[in-house]
Amino acid sequence: MTTNESATTTASSPAPLFSHSLGFPRVGARRELKKAVESFWKGASDETALQTTARELRATHWKLQSDAGIDLIPSNDFSLYDQVLDMSCLVGNVPERFGWDGKGDVNLETYFAMARGRSGEKKESASHTHDGECGCGSHGATACEMTKWFDTNYHYLVPEFNDGTTFRLASQKPFAEFQEALALGHRTKPVLLGPVSYLYLGKVHGGTNPSFDRFKLLPKLLEVYGEVLQKLAAQGAKWVQLDEPIFALDLDTTIKQYFTTAYDVLREKAGALKLITACYFGAAGANFLSLARLPVEAIHLDATRGASDLEHGLEVVPTRTIVSLGVVDGRNVWKNDFASSLKVIDQVVQKLGRDRVWLAPSCSLLHSPVSLQHETKLEPAIKSWMSFAAEKLGEVSTLARLAVSAARETDAAWIGNQSALASKATDPRLQVPAVRERVAALTPGDEQRDSAFAKRQEVQRNRLKLPAFPTTTIGSFPQTDEVRSWRARWRKGSLTDAEYEALLGEETARCVRVQEELDIDVLVHGEFERNDMVEYFGEQLDGFTFTQNGWVQSYGSRCVKPPVIFGDVSRPHPMTVRWFQYAQSLTSRPMKGMLTGPITILNWSFVRNDLSRPDVCRQIALAIRDEVRDLEAAGCRVIQIDEAALRECLPLREKDRAFYLQWTVASFRVAASVVRDDTQIHTHMCYSNFNDIIEAIAAMDADVITIETSRSSMELLDAFVRFQYPNEIGPGVYDIHSPRVPPAAEMRELMDRASAVLPKDNLWVNPDCGLKTRGWPEVKAALANMVNVAHALRG
Ligand code: GLN
Ligand code: ZN
Repeated sequence: MTTNESATTTASSPAPLFSHSLGFPRVGARRELKKAVESFWKGASDETALQTTARELRATHWKLQSDAGIDLIPSNDFSLYDQVLDMSCLVGNVPERFGWDGKGDVNLETYFAMARGRSGEKKESASHTHDGECGCGSHGATACEMTKWFDTNYHYLVPEFNDGTTFRLASQKPFAEFQEALALGHRTKPVLLGPVSYLYLGKVHGGTNPSFDRFKLLPKLLEVYGEVLQKLAAQGAKWVQLDEPIFALDLDTTIKQYFTTAYDVLREKAGALKLITACYFGAAGANFLSLARLPVEAIHLDATRGASDLEHGLEVVPTRTIVSLGVVDGRNVWKNDFASSLKVIDQVVQKLGRDRVWLAPSCSLLHSPVSLQHETKLEPAIKSWMSFAAEKLGEVSTLARLAVSAARETDAAWIGNQSALASKATDPRLQVPAVRERVAALTPGDEQRDSAFAKRQEVQRNRLKLPAFPTTTIGSFPQTDEVRSWRARWRKGSLTDAEYEALLGEETARCVRVQEELDIDVLVHGEFERNDMVEYFGEQLDGFTFTQNGWVQSYGSRCVKPPVIFGDVSRPHPMTVRWFQYAQSLTSRPMKGMLTGPITILNWSFVRNDLSRPDVCRQIALAIRDEVRDLEAAGCRVIQIDEAALRECLPLREKDRAFYLQWTVASFRVAASVVRDDTQIHTHMCYSNFNDIIEAIAAMDADVITIETSRSSMELLDAFVRFQYPNEIGPGVYDIHSPRVPPAAEMRELMDRASAVLPKDNLWVNPDCGLKTRGWPEVKAALANMVNVAHALRG
C-alpha cells in the first residue's frame, strides 16, 4: 500500500513522509470569528454575515495548510463555538430544556442557546414547568456546563445524557464543510470527536435515573456515527479522523472494552473509508495496547508529551496500521528542534518502514496562535525562536522531506532551524548566572515561615485587631469603560504617564473611600492599574515578552493572549509597592498587597521549553518573594498571593500528580515564607474543586485562603471540613459572575452553613472572586449586604 498519495517521486528526491494536520485554530489571525460571532449575538449582523465570515476563514485556513505542504488537511475542525457542542448537535443530543422539537436539524438559535443559555420571556413557576412539550414558546434555559478540555486552557460544553437520551443525525456540518473544501480543491479528512471520548466527557443529567450508566447509549450512538461515516464516504472522503484523547487518561478496563466494541462497529460501517484514531495530550501508556489494536488504518500518537509510547509500544502495532507521529508540539509557541525530532522519526521509520509513518503536529493546533506573520513588534532574535500554527505546519512538511533526505545537514531549512536554536543557546537572557545561582541555593528553610500557624495566628490577631468574621474583597473593583479608556489612551501616547497615574490615583482613592464607607475591614486598592493579573507582572519582570496577536481560544468567542516566558525570570524593580503605599496612605485600615503567585503566572503563560517547568516556577517564585519582602518593608500587614490556576495544569495521570503538587506548593511557599510571623499571607483560588488537592492546599500554609463557594452552596467546603483544615478561610458568599445583587439572607444562609462545619473563629466574609467585570452600583449594594451579614454574625 502506498500512503504518499499526493507526493511525487523523482530520481533525485525521494517522496517525503506523508504529512497531515489534526486541526487548525478557527478564530482567525485577527480574531475575525470572535468579532463576527459577537456581532451576531448583539444583533448587529445576521446569520448570513456570520456564515460568510466562517466560510472565508475556513477557505483561508485550508489554503494556508495546503500551501504549507501538508498532504492531508482536516475539515469539521472548524466550529462557531465548540467542537464538542458540534458533536452533540450532529447526533441530535439536545437537552430537553432547550425545547428543540427533535425534527429537522438543530438550528443556530438552539446551538447558541446550548452554549450560552437563553432567558425565557416567562419564568418557570410551580404551575408551569417548561419542557419539550409545553409549547409555550418561551424556553428560558441555563447553558450547558462548561469545563476544561484536558489540561489545556480550552473549555468545552459538557454533553448531557440520561436514560431518555436518543440520537439521530441532526446537523449537516461535516458534510457541508467537506463539500465546501472539495469545491475549493481540497479533499479533506473530516474530524469527529470519537464516540467513546464523547460519552466519557459528558455527564448524566435529567432523566429518571441519576445513576444511569451513559455507556449504555453506545450502541445507539454508533448507529449515528455509522451514518455519518457512510455519508462522508459517499461524498468522496478517503479518511476520517476520530479523536479519542481520553486514551491519555487513566482508564479502567470497562472503558477500554468499549473502545474495542465501538471500533468493531465503526470499522464495519466505514466500508472502504479509512479511519485514523488520534491520541494526544500525553502517552496512551497502559492503554496503548487498546489503541494499537483498534481495527483502524492509522493511529496518531503525541510524540512530544507521550514520547514514552514510542519507546515501549511500537512492536505491538499490527503491520497493517500506520503510525502518525505528532512530533511538532501543538501547544507551545517554539520552533521545533529538527535534530531531536529527526532522531525520533529515524528510529520509528527504522522500525516500521517509511510507508507506515506519517508526520503531524502533536495535537490540534487550536492551542497555539495562528501565525507569526502578524507579529511586527517581537524582537527579531526572540521571533526567530518561535513558531505558531502556520509555521508549525511548515515544520511538519519540512521534517517530512528531511526525514528521507540523504543530504539533510546541508539543507537550507535544517541549517536555518539549527542556527536559530543555536542563537538561543548563547543568548545571555536565557542563562542569567545570578538567577540560576539563586535557584540552586534555595534551601528547605526558604519554604518555611518562622513559626507554625497557631503562633502566627496569635501574633497577627494582636497586630491586626480585626473583628470576628472579618470582611474583605478579592482585589479588583470595577474596570469601567472609563478606566479602560485611560489605559488605551496612555498606551497610544495621548495621555502622559503623569496624567494616567493621576487618573488611576483618583479612582483608587474613590475605591478606598467606598470600602471605608461600607465598613469593610481589610481593604484593597482596586487593581485599576492592571490590565490582567498575569500580564501586569509579566510586563515588569525580565524574561517575559508579549505578542500582538498571539491569541488562543479559551471558550466560545473568548480568547486569551498569554505572555511568553522566553528567558530567566527576575524582578528588576518593585512592581506593586508604590500603589500599595499610596493606597495605604489613604486609610488606617489594613491595605492588602496584591500579587499573582508563581504557579498562576507559569500556568497562564507560554513557557520556554529549554528549562523544566519546576525550574521556571522557582525563578518566578523568587521574583515574587522579592516583591513580598518589599511590601512588608513598606509597612504592608496583609499580602495576598493569588493562585487561581493551581489546578489548571494538574497532570492528567494520577501517577504524575504528587510531583506536580510538590513543586508548585514549594514555589508558593518560597514566595510567601519570607515574611515575619505577624504579616498575614492570603491566597485566593476560584473555580476550584478541592477534594483531590486538599492536602496540597493545606501544605501551602497560607494564613487565610479565600475560595469560590457560593455557586456550589458551600459544597466545596466539604474537603476543608473533612481534612480539618486548620488555617483561616473565606468561603465566597456571593457569585461575582452575575450582576444580580444577592440579598443578605442568602449570604447569611451560606455563612451559617460554613459556621456549622468550620471553626467560627477562622471564618472570613468575602465575595467569590474579584469584582472587575461588575458595575459600581451592584458592587456597592452587594457589598453593603455582605457587611451587614458580617455585622449580624458578630452580634
Ligand atoms: N486579585 C484578582 C482579582 O480580584 C484575582 C482574580 C482571580 O482570581 N481570577 O481580580
Ligand atoms: Zn478568583
